[in-house]
Amino acid sequence: MTSCIFCRIVNGEVPAEVVAREPEVVAFLDVQPLADGHVLVVPRAHVAAVEELEPVAADALFRATRRLSGPVRDALGAAGTTIGINNGAATGQTIPHVHVHIVPRWADDGAGSIHTIFPRKTRRSLPDVGAAIRRVIG
Ligand SMILES: [Zn+2]
Repeated sequence: MTSCIFCRIVNGEVPAEVVAREPEVVAFLDVQPLADGHVLVVPRAHVAAVEELEPVAADALFRATRRLSGPVRDALGAAGTTIGINNGAATGQTIPHVHVHIVPRWADDGAGSIHTIFPRKTRRSLPDVGAAIRRVIG
């Protein structure tokens, strides 16, 4: 038996408020919701980081996120959703099983955009950073 709580939810060993159960992904409510309707979409396969996902699993994960974001928004009467992934322990990812957060949002909910979580400590020029990334991509 795995100790990964998301694998245990996927396998039905731990109860969760599941909203979608599909061949490649399972979506369920976060037990510590940031807002009503805070959904987590997880691949069935245990993978810690986005870059470790098989391409077909990545496709299924984003297709499910796309398909669920509208219904989650509409079910809660929200104005939009913030969709995000904490990718790696240093980012605040506490469960090492890839998961996409879909958080319903309202204009007056007091939360900021993704931009508001960063202190904007950039030190390098855009061309320098762009060249560095292109070199690694190859
Ligand atoms: Zn897992």
